[in-house]
Amino acid sequence: MAFLDDVRRIGKNIAEKGKDVLEITKLNTQIASEKDKIKDLYEKIGEQVYNSYLSSGSSEYEDLCVQIQEIENKIKELTDKVLELKNAVKCSNCGAELTKDTIYCPKCGTKVAN
Ligand SMILES: [Zn+2]
Repeated sequence: MAFLDDVRRIGKNIAEKGKDVLEITKLNTQIASEKDKIKDLYEKIGEQVYNSYLSSGSSEYEDLCVQIQEIENKIKELTDKVLELKNAVKCSNCGAELTKDTIYCPKCGTKVAN
């Protein structure tokens, strides 16, 4: 029966297409995961370049390093505002967040200068 053969053939095609879609999804997931690895490595390269700029004071990528420094200063300013609002200070030794009336840091024992 030609009709039934057609139905079987179409059914088989659909099943194979489904397998292909699954395989494509699997491969795309693998590609995305490999791309993530590259991103992580780019990040490590960036950190190394920036740290070397901080220790040597110069870099081939000075403009970008200066931008990072500016952003870090901005973050420090914003963090200070948050601390101020929380009525807190940071331990100068370990960075622990302490209430303003703390005399000795409970984490590292450093005397807190108030
Ligand atoms: Zn401390």
